[in-house]
Amino acid sequence: MIYNADNIFAKILENKIPCKKFYEDEFVLSFPDINPLTSVHLLIIPKGSYVSFHDFSLKASPEELAGFFRAVGLIAKKAGVERSGYRLIANHGRDANQEVPHFHMHLLGGEPLGSMLGSRHR
Ligand code: AMP
Repeated sequence: MIYNADNIFAKILENKIPCKKFYEDEFVLSFPDINPLTSVHLLIIPKGSYVSFHDFSLKASPEELAGFFRAVGLIAKKAGVERSGYRLIANHGRDANQEVPHFHMHLLGGEPLGSMLGSRHR
């Protein structure tokens, strides 16, 4: 998997494109999805250059892996959905309709989310 730095999240990390920063630490940046699907819809991206979850899971250092997942929990808490519940989605590749080729986790919540895959649920 070859990372293409010409993607929109790489540009957000480089401050070439603005975002409404929700959380940042040494490992991650989090900001609202520009096209929210639920009342809370945040994106969480690693600062390192990884194409997708699959790439991240294989190549990230133990510190990056731990830092990322620790941050997800902190962000859920900061967003106020720790108690009410939330859903995490990471789309990898064609079948998952991944649009942006920089690994990102969607954090969805703030309302009942229904079945896992909506109308496609089998
Ligand atoms: P995915 O299909 O998992 O690759 O999701 C990509 C997500 O990025 C979509 O939900 C888009 O709405 C979101 N998105 C694209 N550009 C931006 C942006 N500039 N700021 C925030 N979210 C964005």
